Amino acid sequence: MTEEINLRLTPENAASRDRIVREASRLLRIDESAVNDIAVVRRSIDARHKQVMVNLTVRVASGDTATVSPDFTPVAFPDVSQSRHELLIVGAGPAGLFAALKAIELGIRPIVFERGKDVDRRRLDLAALNREGSVNPDSNYCFGEGGAGTFSDGKLFTRSKKRGDVGGILRLLHQHGAREEILVDAHPHIGSDRLPLIIKNIRRTIIESGGEVRFDARVDRLLLAPDRKRVAGVELADGSRFEGDVILATGHSARDVYRMLRAEGVPVEAKGLAIGVRLEHPQELIDSIQYHSPRGRGRWLPPAEYSFVCQAEGRGVYSFCMCPGGVIVPAVSGADQLVVNGMSASARSSIWANSGMVVELHPGDFPEFESEGELQMLALQEWLERRFFEEAGHTLNAPAQRMTDFVAGRASKTIPPSSYLPGLHPARIDTLLPPFIARRLQAGFENFGRRSREFLSDRAILVGLESRTSSPVRIPRDRATLMHPEVAGLYPVGEGAGFAGGIVSAAIDGQNAVKAFAANNHLTQTAE
Ligand SMILES: Cc1cc2nc3c(=O)[nH]c(=O)nc-3n(C[C@H](O)[C@H](O)[C@H](O)COP(=O)(O)OP(=O)(O)OC[C@H]3O[C@@H](n4cnc5c(N)ncnc54)[C@H](O)[C@@H]3O)c2cc1C
Repeated sequence: MTEEINLRLTPENAASRDRIVREASRLLRIDESAVNDIAVVRRSIDARHKQVMVNLTVRVASGDTATVSPDFTPVAFPDVSQSRHELLIVGAGPAGLFAALKAIELGIRPIVFERGKDVDRRRLDLAALNREGSVNPDSNYCFGEGGAGTFSDGKLFTRSKKRGDVGGILRLLHQHGAREEILVDAHPHIGSDRLPLIIKNIRRTIIESGGEVRFDARVDRLLLAPDRKRVAGVELADGSRFEGDVILATGHSARDVYRMLRAEGVPVEAKGLAIGVRLEHPQELIDSIQYHSPRGRGRWLPPAEYSFVCQAEGRGVYSFCMCPGGVIVPAVSGADQLVVNGMSASARSSIWANSGMVVELHPGDFPEFESEGELQMLALQEWLERRFFEEAGHTLNAPAQRMTDFVAGRASKTIPPSSYLPGLHPARIDTLLPPFIARRLQAGFENFGRRSREFLSDRAILVGLESRTSSPVRIPRDRATLMHPEVAGLYPVGEGAGFAGGIVSAAIDGQNAVKAFAANNHLTQTAE
């Protein structure tokens, strides 16, 4: 027989198979020797109390059942090389790649256009970016194979469970090389050292199934039918043209795409987003706070995470994309910008913990940009990114200030070491940020400091600017067909269209768009 039970163990016991078996057999009132097989199917850490505990859900095979049957059956991808149905997918981020996989599952041949390079060549551009500050506008932390998700923390936690099959995305990632733990952990993550291999394996699946992935293939124009009510295809930077319906999965940093849409008369809308800074603490400080022990996390617990949120003057102030054991990276995608973000390797082994600390903003909050209409929030982002770049002497040395000095509104006398490779530039971030943002961030930090005294620390620094938390523009779409309401055959998807935030939700959105394409074109019987 196979039974599923919940266990609550100390971190040390949870790391030992023997102790898991002992506890499971005790709860099931069977002898340990009767346990033929056991598998952990869910794991979460409960750090709310002094004694940190690990909650496990385990599946136990006993009696005449020899093994716990695996949950996992790999998806079979058919050969679509001769398919009559093709779909043009612009962008090889999570939305575009998972759209391509779904297309193949449904018997549709995908052609993926990616402005950047494959992950191996992209890595060289990132090295140059960190060492020399030279920015390739088509190959950076935002652009290139795998999109913004490749050189990231690879957190796979999402709240968008209602939108689709989160487990299905995790299983596809596992099928393409991610460790089995991602199917078990409550807060799964992959890490920037493992993501490139997974992305390459996804590319291999697409190509071996008869699809195409084209690198250095920037789409510069959307081709519209003469009545401008239907998409006809795309035109690349080299002038080549492709006909078909278009999944537009270009991410939130493709500002040229928003401008191109506006120039072509395709309606877009201003969208709210959040802007602030990266906050970096020593990881051991976060461990001691979150695990309630001056000795830190010890041998059995992972680097601790945190999450803070509060309201300040009517706006949310919150931590975002926390990277335990991570590093801060220059996430710029063009000249004259200073933007930072966080990433970490699978082991999360750096001595730093960072997170975005941001303030919710709405269109209209900055009247000086309202004349930009639907691109007003993009204009605000650009202005602020330039301001931070200029402050740093036109380099990628990011402006930095101690957290306590930021709250007190004074300059930092010294700046402690940081994970940010290009280097730091001591600055008054409290005056560099517009008062609308700075004031709320100060109030937020005071609030977080009241809830966790050591968190508001002079060992922590702010590094700016964190401005790419989500898209500053929404590309509208019909709720049922997922097509642009005024341009049939155009499917705006993922983070760039304003319908996703994060790797998993972007991947789900990409899949949903292809399912909608299949339904709109009555192709569903070839599928699922
Ligand atoms: C450093 C960093 C760390 C992050 N960490 C996490 C994390 O741990 N967990 C998480 O869930 N999210 C994380 N994110 C956010 C996550 O990466 C994004 O939410 C996700 O990648 C969005 O997916 P997408 O496919 O919609 O867009 P993107 O990933 O942005 O992909 C868009 C793709 O389109 C391409 N493109 C753009 N314009 C064109 C064009 N004109 N022609 C052809 N191609 C084009 C781009 O090159 C890019 O590859 C992180 C982001 C960054 C930058």
